[in-house]
This record gives sequence, C-alpha cells and structure tokens, in this order.
Amino acid sequence: MVKFDLVIIGAGPGGYVAAIRASQLGKKVAIIEKEKQLGGTCLRVGCIPSKALLESSRLYEQATEGMKDRGISFSKVQLDLEAMMQHKTGVVDTLAGGIDGLMKKNKVQQFSGHGRLVGNHTVVIDSSGGEETIEAANILLATGSVPTSLPGIEIDGEHVGSSTEALKYGETPKHLVVIGGGVIGLELGTVWRRLGSTVTVLEYLDRILPGIDSEIAKDALKIFKKQGLKFQLKTKVTGVKTNRKTVDVLIEGKDPVRCDKVLMAVGRRPNTSNLGLKEAGVKVDTKGFVTVDAHYKTSAAGIFAIGDLTGGAMLAHKAEEEGIACVEQLFSGYGHVNYNAIPAVVYTEPEIASVGKTEDELKATKTEYKTGKFPYMANGRARASGHLEGKVKILAHAKTDRVLGVHIIGANAGELIAECVAAIEFGASSEDIARTCHAHPTLSETIKEAALAVGKRTIHL
Ligand code: FAD
Ligand code: NAD
Repeated sequence: MVKFDLVIIGAGPGGYVAAIRASQLGKKVAIIEKEKQLGGTCLRVGCIPSKALLESSRLYEQATEGMKDRGISFSKVQLDLEAMMQHKTGVVDTLAGGIDGLMKKNKVQQFSGHGRLVGNHTVVIDSSGGEETIEAANILLATGSVPTSLPGIEIDGEHVGSSTEALKYGETPKHLVVIGGGVIGLELGTVWRRLGSTVTVLEYLDRILPGIDSEIAKDALKIFKKQGLKFQLKTKVTGVKTNRKTVDVLIEGKDPVRCDKVLMAVGRRPNTSNLGLKEAGVKVDTKGFVTVDAHYKTSAAGIFAIGDLTGGAMLAHKAEEEGIACVEQLFSGYGHVNYNAIPAVVYTEPEIASVGKTEDELKATKTEYKTGKFPYMANGRARASGHLEGKVKILAHAKTDRVLGVHIIGANAGELIAECVAAIEFGASSEDIARTCHAHPTLSETIKEAALAVGKRTIHL
C-alpha cells in the first residue's frame, strides 16, 4: 500500500489548490474525486458555467435592446440556446482539462471514485472498478456542498430543479419561479430573464441578498425590479403541486404561483454523504458542517477540513485560501486566512461587490464610523459607457480612518473591489486611497472619490 504525506478527498477549488501547494512544498500528494471532471462545484456546476451564461445572456440582451441609444441596431437577433450551452460546456471542459494538467505537472496522484474515511490515516476509494485503500499521514476533507431544498419539496430535476438544472435548461422557461432571493436566485434569475423568461423571485425575508450591506441590497432590488424581475418578499413557500406541464408553488396566506419551472435556491448544505465521518470521529455542528479549529484540524487527529464543507462564506476563493493556509500550516508551520479581507461578488447587472464590514454590522457592534459615497453617474467613464446605475460606499473608522468595509453596486464592481481588498489587507486608511492616483477616465475613480467623500472633500460632486 502506497503511503502519502497528504490525501485530499474532493477536487474542487479548495482541494485541488491545496494539492498543488502541498506538492510545491515537496510532499507526496493524492487527490480523490468522484466526478469525471476535476474542479468541483465551482467549475462543473457553479461559478464558471453560471458566469459563461451571464456573459452570453448579457450580450444577447445588449444585442436585442441595449445599443439603440448608441446608434447601433441589428435587423434580426436570434437566440440559439443550444449553441450558448455548447459554449458554456466548452469553457468548462477546457478549464477541467487545465486542472488535470496541473495535477500531472505537480505530480499529484489522481484517484477516480468516492473517498470514504475508515480511520485517521486510511481512505477507501469506491469506484466502478472496485475498492482501493490508500494510507496517508494526513487527510484533507474538501468535499464541498450540495443544493438544499425546503421540507416537503423534492428537487425532482424536472419541474423543480436546483442551480445545476437551471444551468442547462433545454429551452427558455416561459415562467420561472425562483425560491430564494440570494446569490444563485438573482444570478440565474438574471440569465433567464435576459433570455426571455418571466422570472418571479419568492423570498422568505423582507429583503434580498442577506449578508450584503442593506443599503446596497435595497438599491439592487430597485434596479432588478426595473429590469423586469418580479419579487414577492416576506413569502413562505409551503409546497409545490406539479401538474402535467406546470407547477403550482404554494405560499402561506397567498395565492399559489403557477409556472413551468421552479429553481430552488435557498442555500446549500455540506456534502458529507458516505464520507465515514462518524467512524473516523470527525465532529460536525448542528447543521452538519465539519467543525475545525484555526488550523483546519477536525476533532480527529490527522484529519483536516476546508471550504464549503466547513461552513462560513461559500465562496471558491475562500476555499482556495483555506486550502493553501491549511497545507502551509501543516507542512511549514505557518498559514493564515484574513477572513475580513475576503471579497464577495454577485455577478448580476449591475454587479455587487463587497469586502469587510457592512454598515449593519458596524451599527450592531456600535463601532464609530464615517461614510463616503460616490455615485457612478458622476464618473466620466461610467457616463461614456452608459453605466449610470450604482455607487461606491466606503466605511472608515471614525477615529483612525482605517477602512472597515467597502460596498459597490455598479458596472465592473467585481474587478474594482480588488483594490479595496488590498486596502483592507494592508490596513489602509480612507486617506491612503484618496491620495492614491487613479487613472482617468476609469471607473476606479469612483473609489478614490468615495474615499475623498469620507473626508467630505470629494471633487466631482
Ligand atoms: P466543491 O467545489 O463543492 O468541491 C468538492 C468536490 O468534492 C466535488 O468535486 C465533489 O464531487 C467532490 N466530492 C464530494 N464528496 C466526495 C467523496 N466522498 N469522494 C470523492 N469526491 C468527493 N463561488 C464564488 O466564489 N464565485 C462564484 O461566482 C460562485 N458562483 C456559484 C454559482 C453556483 C450556481 C453555485 C452552486 C456555486 C457558486 N459559487 C461561487 C460557490 C462555489 O462553487 C463554492 O464555494 C466552491 O465550489 C467550494 O469549493 P470546495 O472546494 O469547498 O467544494
Ligand atoms: P443564499 O444563502 O445566498 O440565498 C438563499 C436565499 O434563500 C436567502 O435569501 C434566504 O433568505 C432565502 N430563503 C431561505 N429559506 C427560504 C424559504 N423557505 N422561502 C423563501 N426563501 C428562502 O444561497 P444560494 O443563493 O442558494 O447560494 C448558495 C451558496 O452559493 C451561497 O452561500 C453563495 O455564497 C454561493 N454562491 C456564490 C456566488 C457568487 O459568489 N457570485 C454565486 C452563486 C452561489
């Protein structure tokens, strides 16, 4: 039996990145993945295919109606959904092949099959070819998450689907009901609205995008409504009744909503299915997430866990950072993730991006803060390119001026946030950003102006 320094179960962004880093540190590494392609939820049925469809659907919408005011019109715009889906699949296949190549280049031994713990240092791999047992000094669990549903509602993949189905509908649903006004609901709701569906979002809370700064979420709701997404907030879905071709979504105290597809987007749960956690003595919390300490150690000696499996923000880049920190801590004695400097991006139109504390959090902790805001409509580049909706909001400590949080809604917010992440990582003040020269004309000037606004000396407003 071959003995590895590290065996990783799950080749998502957490697992495969950890494998590369461990190999760079000179360790003998194996990775086990049950799906045919490496890359995890993110690459196969998450970040990448959703962004491919968001970009393609944006182009379609722009071609059909978005360019008339610029003097560009097309006589006939046609949607070839099959070709759009093929493009998406091509992107995924290429990137999955790339990860395969990275594993080979880094001499990470790949095992195809379902990994299961049978002790602190032993994993059994079940595959169509039978069972194989491998041993390791250390085991890293990176099995990610899977979609969850509501009690009494089965994700049948036909009438009621998760994001996985909504990434590959064969035709545009006439009426798509999205249960859950979170990130998945709004990103995929946007895709199908652009491609011609009527989209109704049913959200349990009185707001959308929980976790996002509430002022920014309010702005987003207004913009999404204007784009044609329909919302029912404070809405408790109690069940679904499927008919031959339609579905009735049942709501407490309200009329049912009839549609032809339901996208269940109420969150994801840890993927611990047949992982052998109990047998190995790995503890989980009340929601089933594997509990870890600051060094990603589980309750079982020699077994570590990272990424979606351990809870917190379910983000690919967070899983990657944890994978690297875990492996560096284990093999070199030092590894760390600054959870305050993990950006979050919602790839709707406009994009929403944030880092650090929200205003709601600062209020709740009675932190004294100053606010600086700058609207996109006062930025030259935004005006020239027609991206007038949005704003940048910077929250800085009232006394030290240290940047505590940045929240952006607007075009390219997902790219603009990188500067703000670096600012928080380096402990910058709002004055540091305000005194940094930003190229003109760029959208990044909105960040400089918002930083100037913290000190009440914005120039272009
Ligand atoms: P995963 O990516 O879930 O990978 C776990 C892997 O383990 C999977 O490949 C699984 O097959 C494998 N596995 C599980 N159990 C076993 C086993 N017993 N044996 C062998 N293999 C096993 N995040 C972002 O940051 N940006 C985005 O834009 C974004 N968009 C998203 C869009 C959608 C529609 C969804 C669903 C998610 C999105 N996410 C996004 C979230 C992101 O995909 C996850 O946070 C990320 O994939 C978590 O990485 P992970 O490595 O922890 O787990
Ligand atoms: P989410 O937690 O973002 O949103 C779920 C939404 O469903 C919430 O608004 C919640 O209030 C609502 N909800 C819960 N129960 C409900 C009920 N009974 N009826 C109606 N609404 C209900 O979860 P998600 O959108 O499913 O996404 C799952 C994870 O994937 C998230 O943690 C997210 O971070 C990650 N993800 C990230 C990105 C990105 O980074 N761009 C994109 C997609 C997914």
